[in-house]
Amino acid sequence: MTSQQVELLAIAAHRDDVELTCGGTLAKAVRTGHRVGIIDLTQGETGTRGDATTRAAEAERATRALGVHVRLNAGLRDAHLQNDEPSRATLIELIRTTRPRVVILPFPVGRHPDHRIASELGRDAWGGGGGGGGGAPRTGRSKSSTPSPTAKIR
Ligand SMILES: [Zn+2]
Repeated sequence: MTSQQVELLAIAAHRDDVELTCGGTLAKAVRTGHRVGIIDLTQGETGTRGDATTRAAEAERATRALGVHVRLNAGLRDAHLQNDEPSRATLIELIRTTRPRVVILPFPVGRHPDHRIASELGRDAWGGGGGGGGGAPRTGRSKSSTPSPTAKIR
């Protein structure tokens, strides 16, 4: 396992999204011995609560508090996320760098366009070459008899 490789990877649009939506899950996974990573798609440069530098410092502190092993930033345009070929290529490269077994994506419905697009972009990058094998992503709501990929994280 390389130093960038993780078992569980959370992908989100902005630097505080992961902490607000699944920070507890990530901290618990770390505490139970799993390697965990985060990919922030943007630097939050258009945020109303702090500039990119402030948000980077906050993200660094949050990363340490959660115990997350790897945190990468895709450097895509904040407030202008696109699920286009260049964005997918960037995200696929980062997913391949981290080689996760399980990926947590944003909920696909919401008010902020970046959040919706981050969900779609993550799904397409994961399934389209990042590591998902081209199939539909598995979700925690699956009715499949196959155990959820998060089943080992308690
Ligand atoms: Zn956000």
